[in-house]
Amino acid sequence: MSITKKGNITTSAVRAGINTDQQHGAVVAPIYLSSTYSLKGFNNKRQFDYSRTGNPTRATFAGAIAELEQGSVGIVTSTGMAAVHLICQLLSTQDTVVIPHDCYGGSFRLFTHLAKRGQFKLIVVDQNDQQALDNALAHKPKLVLLESPSNPLLRLVDIEVVTKACHAVGALVAVDNTFLSPALQQPLTLGADIVFHSTTKYINGHSDVVGGVVVAKTEELGEQLAWWANCIGITGSAFDSFLALRGLKTLPVRMKQHQENALRVADFLKNHDAIDAIYFPGFPEHTGHHIAKKQQYGFGAMLSFEIKGDVEAVKKLFENLELFTLAQSLGGVESLISHPSTMTHAGMTIPDQLEAGITQSLVRISVGIEDIDDILADLAHGLTQSQL
Ligand SMILES: *Cc1c(COP(=O)(O)O)cnc(C)c1O
Repeated sequence: MSITKKGNITTSAVRAGINTDQQHGAVVAPIYLSSTYSLKGFNNKRQFDYSRTGNPTRATFAGAIAELEQGSVGIVTSTGMAAVHLICQLLSTQDTVVIPHDCYGGSFRLFTHLAKRGQFKLIVVDQNDQQALDNALAHKPKLVLLESPSNPLLRLVDIEVVTKACHAVGALVAVDNTFLSPALQQPLTLGADIVFHSTTKYINGHSDVVGGVVVAKTEELGEQLAWWANCIGITGSAFDSFLALRGLKTLPVRMKQHQENALRVADFLKNHDAIDAIYFPGFPEHTGHHIAKKQQYGFGAMLSFEIKGDVEAVKKLFENLELFTLAQSLGGVESLISHPSTMTHAGMTIPDQLEAGITQSLVRISVGIEDIDDILADLAHGLTQSQL
């Protein structure tokens, strides 16, 4: 897979925090739950003094992510939304921010509600509409948010091209990289200033932590964000950092299997009678395929499709699946299925959903790493039943 500043990403991920314990030689980085740290003496602080501000376990995880994303500073937050909220701290009331109309539902809700309270000016665009983007950039925004691939329709943006246009008007670019993880895409190497994740998804990968991370390209921006993270108190816990670091070690190998399975699922769905349309960047006919090939190290393991027969067919499909779990979220080792309109994107009004292309018959899948024959058999059964 991809390469980081220090070498191969698979090796970097596995080696994160290994052999760092000076006291006992613990091979795996130990977990420090202590909320506070003694001073060496009067006015003589150690590296850490209080765990909201800094914690050794969290610092190890932050450093590992920053390395994989090829950034300078990593900041671990309590949730993915806390990571988005942290980035909002860079904005003043006179600043304009541009977000994609089909960004993660929680991000959409946060930006629209903060804008309503006058915290900044907001422009919502279809990031694939060049004219709309140009019009937005004419307002000289302070920050442009990108999400590629987008949720749930897997639309892509050319991060390098859009970032150049944003930098030309003095805007910072922040990319939500949750859907791919640093194993498959490294936005900072494409020019972005900030990359962020919900580590709840692929990075932790086992659906047992809610967390986030922000990585800044420059030391200066990273310090500013770290200052705010401590100030507003949204840093992640030591225990969650420990678990996420443990998950990170297998990220590249998990992604390989996720992708292998996703390709098989996509091929199976593509020719199925119960499917009207499929959205998967791995197909040459997908509108973003050429961009994916250029800026990603693979096509990821998320896909969505329109089932024939509206919401009744969706219901029947869900009722007849055994292996797939009906749940929000994504990126865990287990296969999940969801209905964006009533689940992940329920925070958007129906007209906003339709504007973003989210119909009642749209179904999203996070392809897990179970045996592929079991995954396909379950889908085959469910889809047949959905049309009866
Ligand atoms: C889940 C998710 C978030 C929010 O993360 P939480 O950990 O749930 O707070 C943000 N962006 C994307 C793309 C996500 O999938």
